[in-house]
Amino acid sequence: MIFEYHLCKVLNHQAQYYKANYYCSALQTHVNDNSKSILPLHLALRVIANNQFFRGEHNNALAAYLHLIEVFPNHGDISAVYNDIGNLLKVIGRFQQSETYLLQALNLRLKSSNSMKLAQVQHSLASLYLEKKQFDLSLKYFKSALTILKSESNSYGLGLTYIGIGDAYIGKGNHQLGDSYLTKGLEFAEDLENQKMKAKIYLALAESYYQRTLYIPASNYAKNALSISKLIHDSQYQSSSLFILSKIYAASNSYKTAYEYYQTYSNIELANRDIDNRKAIEALDLTKTNFEQEYKRSELFNLNRYQALQIETMQRQSVAYNFIVFSLFIIILIFIYLNRKTKRNAQVDSLTGILNRAASISTIKAQPHNNNSEFNSILILLDLDNFKSINDGHGHPTGDLALKHVTNTISSKLGKYDIFGRLGGEEFIILLRDVDELDVKYRVESLHQAISMKSFISESNQTLKITASFSYLATSKSLHDFDDLYSILDQALYQAKQNGRDCIIDAYNDPIDLPSVVYSSTHS
Ligand code: GH3
Ligand code: MG
Ligand code: MG
Repeated sequence: MIFEYHLCKVLNHQAQYYKANYYCSALQTHVNDNSKSILPLHLALRVIANNQFFRGEHNNALAAYLHLIEVFPNHGDISAVYNDIGNLLKVIGRFQQSETYLLQALNLRLKSSNSMKLAQVQHSLASLYLEKKQFDLSLKYFKSALTILKSESNSYGLGLTYIGIGDAYIGKGNHQLGDSYLTKGLEFAEDLENQKMKAKIYLALAESYYQRTLYIPASNYAKNALSISKLIHDSQYQSSSLFILSKIYAASNSYKTAYEYYQTYSNIELANRDIDNRKAIEALDLTKTNFEQEYKRSELFNLNRYQALQIETMQRQSVAYNFIVFSLFIIILIFIYLNRKTKRNAQVDSLTGILNRAASISTIKAQPHNNNSEFNSILILLDLDNFKSINDGHGHPTGDLALKHVTNTISSKLGKYDIFGRLGGEEFIILLRDVDELDVKYRVESLHQAISMKSFISESNQTLKITASFSYLATSKSLHDFDDLYSILDQALYQAKQNGRDCIIDAYNDPIDLPSVVYSSTHS
């Protein structure tokens, strides 16, 4: 039993609580068996309770401590037990009972001459008040402890006390003063090469900056705390560092990182907790779920935003695309329009607006051959009479008016498929299509009459009339040999002029005397 007691005690001191537990449990078995031993029961219970406390078995530890009080010898100093119970009750949140035990311990130690022991209880009380957020009381006790520790030059105690004072000032909202005490504590921690103390200070600094929403320094301090606690395998500080990191990243809207820290945190916490501690596990799970949802929500939000951006880009692209297609369409239309216009301009006589010489001849030549011999095409050549005298008598512009007047008169009497063109000067050609054999004469006469019947107004507002000489031929044959047909018509037209003008010559049937000039030129 002595052997187990010593190992339990020594390993507890070396903070190897789980190794210590092996011997502490064996010791407890002996205690429960009421085994007779030279080892005083209160000593055994003390190390057992300490080990249970350190391992987080708080209820068992409390039972052991209460048993310890019962069996504690009357002459002994029980203040240390009260101090331990006070600290344990603080940890499990029974603050009022904690305060009662600690004040009892304080009273006992005020009477003793051991100032370090007094400082220890003052520190415990100060920590309790810090936990209860009674910051002024906390500061009072920390500062009393500080005075003693300074006189004793106890670096470890000083380091811890500076941390406590720093925490209390930060709790009061005086972050700057708090930070300066923490920094002072850091010097001691570094001198002592106490990694655990350093981790504790970095955590406190992280919290201080987090509270002021200064997330970058806060996360740097928390990361320092995390790497130190990993180095020394301290799962409690590791989980505290992870927890504050997840808080910092969540506050700065980096939910993915926050969630990752929280996952590691909750895994460590779950591994550390007593399996029976269902409520804690449920609470952790609940928070984990909240984090998960928050993370998923933020992911969805990002996805939505990304998709909205994509849609916007696509819409913009489609608008641009439509615009290009529309522009191309317009350009093509303009091109077609201009092309047609130039083509038409090339075909049209500018004064009268009807086909010019080349266009009318080629159009007539291109006419499809009519197989039905009952229907004829009538080709008419006409030349205005004494046109020169209109120019001479009324001016060239009136001559132009006369040309337009004749054009309009003829056009108004033509059908959709008839062809009308100006061959040059005051000479025109007409092709009437699909005319019944019996109607041929009548149709030609009606055009001829229309010109002589209608009058027009000259430049000087005079009412004038003009006549034209016609020659025509009716044929059911192809008009492909237009040049030959034209030559026949031209001779007939000459005959019409010879006959005294304002008359019609049927080029195939009326008698034609070839002009002596033409005749003589072909025979000389
Ligand atoms: P005929 O009865 O024998 O045909 O006599 P005419 O005076 O009509 O024929 P001629 O060939 O002697 O004269 C034609 C005139 O037409 C000559 C020319 O100056 C005129 N002329 C030709 N083109 C135009 C035109 O575009 N506008 C005007 N105002 N006159 C034109
Ligand atoms: Mg003429
Ligand atoms: Mg002429």
